[in-house]
Amino acid sequence: MLGTGLFKGLAVTFGQMTKKKITLQYPEERPDFGDRFRGIHEFIPELCIVCHQCARICPTSCISLSGTRGDDKKLRIDTYDINFEICILCDLCTEVCPTEAIRMTDQFELAAYSRDDLYKDMNWLYENHKQHGSYDQLQAAKRQAQRDQAAAVSANKGDES
Ligand code: SF4
Ligand code: SF4
Repeated sequence: MLGTGLFKGLAVTFGQMTKKKITLQYPEERPDFGDRFRGIHEFIPELCIVCHQCARICPTSCISLSGTRGDDKKLRIDTYDINFEICILCDLCTEVCPTEAIRMTDQFELAAYSRDDLYKDMNWLYENHKQHGSYDQLQAAKRQAQRDQAAAVSANKGDES
């Protein structure tokens, strides 16, 4: 009986050894996440209109923000903090943001020794935008889509005439 179990175990082991490896040598190798991966946010202060929609929809109330009205009557963001101790990376805040000032990135490394370190402010989130943000790629893709659409429309007009 012992011999049968041993051979069964060895068969499983050798079977696994010949399979394609799916583990990565993290952190030297990093996973390639899909476009819709919901990682830690990027925030672009100049796009924020201080509408509070992100904070209102957040199910865990982990966003706090404040802004002031300038001489031109426009609201500008002063502080924007996310408490990643309770953020569940649900994406709702980015869904409702009318200006795409807040978006998810593929960044996922948040390990810290102190809970206080999990409060991320506007500067940190903006730095995350510069390092891991997808906003610029998104705008480039939108511009490309508009160019493609314009080219298709002018090609259609050429076919009709
Ligand atoms: S991802 Fe969800 S939980 Fe996190 S800040 Fe946005 S709305 Fe709140
Ligand atoms: S929803 Fe967008 S624009 Fe409105 S306060 Fe939040 S980040 Fe700023």
